[in-house]
Order: sequence, then C-alpha cells, then structure tokens
Amino acid sequence: MATLDLLSISKSFGAAKVLHDISLAIEDREFVVFVGPSGCGKSTLLRIIAGLEEATSGQIMIGGEDVSAAPPVERGISMVFQSYALYPHLSVYENIAFPLRVQKLPQVEMDERVQRAAGILQLTDKLDLKPGQLSGGQRQRVAIGRSIVRNPKVFLFDEPLSNLDAALRGDMRVELSQLHRQLDATMVYVTHDQVEAMTMADRIVVLNGGRVEQFGTPMELYHHPRTKFVASFIGQPN
Ligand code: ADP
Ligand code: MG
Repeated sequence: MATLDLLSISKSFGAAKVLHDISLAIEDREFVVFVGPSGCGKSTLLRIIAGLEEATSGQIMIGGEDVSAAPPVERGISMVFQSYALYPHLSVYENIAFPLRVQKLPQVEMDERVQRAAGILQLTDKLDLKPGQLSGGQRQRVAIGRSIVRNPKVFLFDEPLSNLDAALRGDMRVELSQLHRQLDATMVYVTHDQVEAMTMADRIVVLNGGRVEQFGTPMELYHHPRTKFVASFIGQPN
C-alpha cells in the first residue's frame, strides 16, 4: 500500500519560511496534483517528499511507515524532473537501464524491466537511438522510463511537460493518465497550469505562499472553492 502522508511539514531557508505546516493524506494509487503560482513552494515540497531536501519540521509516511530519516533510494519513490537529465552519449536503452546498472541488477532482470517500460511508453523501436535523435515527447518518455524500471510505489513529477509545445503537452497528459492506470502506483504531479490540474487529477492540492488553500476533487474546487484565492485560481465565485 503506497499511501503518502505528510504530517505538519514546515520548511525554512534561513529566515524565509517557505512551507507552513502542511498536512495531507494521499491515498494508495491516487493521482494528486499540486498546483499553485510560481514560488509557492511546490518543488520544495516535492523534494522533501523525495528526500532531496530536509524538512525543518514534520514527518513523511509512506505506506504507514515513517521515512522522514530514510535516504531517497530507500523511500520507494521516483522523481521525474522537468529537465530530462538524459545522458546524450548513451542509447535510449542505457538511459532507461541506468538506475539498474547502478544497483548492479542481473542482466536478465534488467533487460526484462527495460523492455517492459519501453513497451508501456512505446519506445521499443527507439532503444538503440541516442536522445538527440528523439522528439521532445519521446525524450520525456525516456526520463519516465528511467523511473518506471525502479518499480517505485510513488512517482513524483515536477512540471514534466513545461518544456513541450502545447499540442504535445495535450498528448502527454493523456499518456500520463494512461500510465497511471497501467502502473500500480501513487502519483504526485506538480504544475502551475490549472488546466493540467483539472484534467489529470483525482484530487488537487492548491498551494499559495507555502500554505494549503484547499485539497479536494477538481469538481469540489470548481464548485465550492473555500477561499478567494482558490476561486480566482480555479473555481468560480460563489
Ligand atoms: P515553486 O516550485 O512553487 O515555483 P519553489 O519550491 O521552487 O517554488 O520555491 C519556493 C520558495 O523557496 C521560493 O521563494 C524560492 O525562492 C525559495 N527557495 C527554493 N529553494 C531554495 C533554496 N535552496 N534556498 C533558498 N531559497 C529557496
Ligand atoms: Mg518549481
């Protein structure tokens, strides 16, 4: 069970408090979108969940287990970054296999996992190419493939589509929703794009100035915004 619980997470950088007492209970296999304006703390919160940044206070629970002190690789979490961070000199296959090479997984199992990820992401006929020979959308899929092969329980996405053009972004939204249905995983997806949030999320967390304004389904937020900010950002005035 990959429930994800945030208990009173706060974060300061020096004197600047950027996250204020954030508590959220995310359900197993839920697709939750964090949405909010630039600088509201979305990436910081995601990095804290991933273990790439330490919270000033609060706890992170995955599957009911406190992982607050666990290093990133032991959390069963995989993060897909905005910049693709692919190795240009390695093939698509090797880019996807990379985390498994680091883990020294046996060749047969590695091959199985890479082929499965490539199948899901429709990259099977691209495995011998270099990233430079791929389209933007295909490169993004390679980055996702690199996450899938680790069999994480929780996927974190930080604005993965923001470098793509509008048409491709639409296609990738659909693909990511399909991916969510295919994989047995909880997904947390960060965006500043309200349309992305409304179309992809099971539930949306609206963040503003490091605080949770509202956590609810797209329809709840749209029809019953709890604050003026949510109303202006997503919903309609009551
Ligand atoms: P978002 O992803 O929503 O745009 P961020 O989480 O990147 O927002 O940033 C939230 C706030 O924290 C911003 O004011 C940003 O300047 C600040 N911040 C982020 N990372 C650091 C850091 N390493 N040191 C100091 N301030 C930071
Ligand atoms: Mg960010």
